[in-house]
Amino acid sequence: MILKQFKELQTFLRTPRNIVIIGHRNPDGDAIGSTLGLCHYLKKKGHAPSVVVPNEYPNFLHWLPGSDTTYRFDWQNSQSQRAIKKSEIIFLLDFNALHRVGTDMQKTLESYENDFALIDHHQQPDDFTYMYSDIEMCSTSQMVYHFMDMMGDVDLVDKDIATCLYTGIMTDTGSFRFRSTTSTTHKVIADLIDKGAENDRIHNNVYDSNSYGRLQLLGQALRNLRVLSDLKSAYITISAKEKIDNNFKKGDTEGVVNYALSVSGITVAAIFIEDKEQGIIKISFRSKGSFSVNQFARNHFDGGGHDNAAGGKSFLSMEETVEKFVSLLSSYKEEIQKSYEV
Ligand code: 5GP
Ligand code: MN
Repeated sequence: MILKQFKELQTFLRTPRNIVIIGHRNPDGDAIGSTLGLCHYLKKKGHAPSVVVPNEYPNFLHWLPGSDTTYRFDWQNSQSQRAIKKSEIIFLLDFNALHRVGTDMQKTLESYENDFALIDHHQQPDDFTYMYSDIEMCSTSQMVYHFMDMMGDVDLVDKDIATCLYTGIMTDTGSFRFRSTTSTTHKVIADLIDKGAENDRIHNNVYDSNSYGRLQLLGQALRNLRVLSDLKSAYITISAKEKIDNNFKKGDTEGVVNYALSVSGITVAAIFIEDKEQGIIKISFRSKGSFSVNQFARNHFDGGGHDNAAGGKSFLSMEETVEKFVSLLSSYKEEIQKSYEV
């Protein structure tokens, strides 16, 4: 764990401050849950915080308390810029380097003159003035809970904070099933339920809100599933046309890669999603055991993330990208075989 300048941060926050809180581009449940959770907390402490999200986030997160008060940097650029200009500190949540917010917003942040405070669980974070970085943590949302605890404020957790943090922890742990889920995670979750998080309603809002199109797209994705038994690997492709044909909305492909990982005997999984707007193939990688898809994504696909869940991109065509992936896997055959003994 890296805990840098915490006492100074605590002192700084003794005075009411204008604050901006930012999560990564293409925000997921943990990015939105942690930023909104922290926002509710800071407001309660007498600060004036705003959450600025880089771009669109999935509909199944829009019900979260405070979601309607966020600024979208791409759409509400002047409000976002104003909030950033006015702020005395910026919290960076659920990402480890400024480029993870996207090019435009990165430029704005690079010319920011005040300090950054990072709370994050990704590997190899860049250096910021204040840092709470722990790669063992299952989610940034759990870290926000620990941050409030370190501030001596765990009693301030109310229903809104609890709901946001529960959502972030739930989505980043695959509903409390990944290896990163510890007994501490469950203790935090227990406390969040005691403070008002309604677990059944949160699960329902996030997971039982599928559109017809999303399920059709999932059907297509599953038909596209390919299994490479001798490499203990499986992958899924989704083309731009398949997205259009199934009325694709942001977030519709979230979690689909896990179906590839769920095939019996599979250790490495990937999904390749064509993104015509950005001119890339966006990739998600998942693994079981010691084979680090973080390293794999960093080394070969301009990405990163965690050991068992990472992402990256490719500027090649879909066919070429898949070919590159399969041929790379062959060169890691031994590591993959050893990665996860059942
Ligand atoms: P997902 O596959 O769910 O989009 O992302 C899995 C993990 O990898 C997340 O922690 C996410 O932040 C990280 N990740 C996804 N795409 C990228 C990328 O292009 N670059 C980096 N550095 N990390 C990524
Ligand atoms: Mn996260």
